[in-house]
Amino acid sequence: MGRRYYCNYCDKTFPNNSQNRRNHTRGIQHTMLKRLYYTKFKDPMLLLQEEQTKRFCNKFAQQGYCEFGDNCKYSHYTNEDLINIIQRAQEDYIRKQNTLENNINRDFDVNRWVEDKLNGINSYVQTQQQLSMSQLHMPPSLRP
Ligand SMILES: [Zn+2]
Ligand SMILES: [Zn+2]
Repeated sequence: MGRRYYCNYCDKTFPNNSQNRRNHTRGIQHTMLKRLYYTKFKDPMLLLQEEQTKRFCNKFAQQGYCEFGDNCKYSHYTNEDLINIIQRAQEDYIRKQNTLENNINRDFDVNRWVEDKLNGINSYVQTQQQLSMSQLHMPPSLRP
């Protein structure tokens, strides 16, 4: 009768254990719904402000998944995700400036941050290239 885990993104519950959570958070449906959630509903600037305090999750980079899932204190965004979010943040930022509805944090210099983040992404890409691309997103049991 253990506690059940509820996934906000998928609106689903399942018995809460690490195996289930891991299977769920690396599932295709979950990944798509989560991405949809962030790309559609979340203010990209807020998201970037959150992400700027996080380092990329080593576990996620090495294994292609991380059992902490959404609760991980490190970032699980791929460079592709981040580039999309950054683009949306920049578009949002420009739009907000143009319409003078600028209620985001003015101390946050998005261009500066983007530069820093892209530097970080570049070193992450180098790490990725050192790992075999074919192994990167496979669970260990499926690796050759
Ligand atoms: Zn889910
Ligand atoms: Zn993680």
